[in-house]
Amino acid sequence: AMPMLEIKDLKKHYSVRKGIFRQSEETAKALDGVSLTIGKGETFAVVGESGCGKTTLGKTLLRLIEPTAGSIRFEGTDITQLNAEEMRRLKTDMQIVFQDPYGSLDPKWTIRKTLEEPLRTHLRLSGDAIRAKVDEMLQVVGLTPHHGDRYPHELSGGQRQRIGIARALILEPKFVVFDEPVSALDVSIQAQILNLMQDLQNRLALTYLFVSHDLSVVRFISDRIGVMYLGRMVEVGPTDEVFSHPLHPYTQALISAIPEPDPAKRRERIVLAGDVPGPRNQPPGCAFHTRCPMAMPECRSIRPELQTVSGNHATACHLYKD
Ligand code: SF4
Repeated sequence: AMPMLEIKDLKKHYSVRKGIFRQSEETAKALDGVSLTIGKGETFAVVGESGCGKTTLGKTLLRLIEPTAGSIRFEGTDITQLNAEEMRRLKTDMQIVFQDPYGSLDPKWTIRKTLEEPLRTHLRLSGDAIRAKVDEMLQVVGLTPHHGDRYPHELSGGQRQRIGIARALILEPKFVVFDEPVSALDVSIQAQILNLMQDLQNRLALTYLFVSHDLSVVRFISDRIGVMYLGRMVEVGPTDEVFSHPLHPYTQALISAIPEPDPAKRRERIVLAGDVPGPRNQPPGCAFHTRCPMAMPECRSIRPELQTVSGNHATACHLYKD
């Protein structure tokens, strides 16, 4: 099957002024050469701590952030080459759902107006057709047409996220980025929203990119997972395999920190020294070497590239040289 998305060597570098007189300049590398293929109908999860570049990646794929270099092929077309009008048309195919729907819903608009807006902007439909489409969409996300008359503050957090999803899906996209869609919700509500996302994916043949720091959520929802550290992918593989046999020492540490109720399956917790250095202070060689319990001398100078270790499970780490 043709891939939905092919990302090659994607970079987003910012120059940042520093010093009391802002006299010097340094480069922050939010994305530092990410390559990735996402298949049709797949849920690919991108995980990592805050500042690893995962949110930048999600937004760059829709060009809400312009990449510094690299290509993004969506069904074969490099969208980094499209002009504003062509990009606008692509909005019907590519959409995003944010963590905080409250922040992205206009408080002065009824839900109906919020859901009608993309239809009016992108499709030529009659008033009746728009109304019918909004009613249908409200039902698809588990609400009723009556919710259309409400304002965002009159809804619960879970209902607002259902509206966030409805707004993203109303133009019938093929690809949806979810940026921490359940992190702001109570755990009991999280499961409902994740189930809704899965149900919609099956019914509407959608492809998802799911950005999250929460490995338990990712394990539940994704087919494959990519672990990011300081703007680079350090491990990519099928979710089951990454959880049962994490290759990269960073992934091993992240997984060891997930609470495991079954004592037989419990791993020893790997506690990492120090904090993430931040995208402006990317260490040379393997960017993880300052915190890695397995670091070797070469890790300080030689950058490990993402390489397949077995099947479609890859990692960027010198421990797996052949
Ligand atoms: Fe650790 Fe070296 Fe592997 Fe980096 S390359 S993760 S420092 S062992």
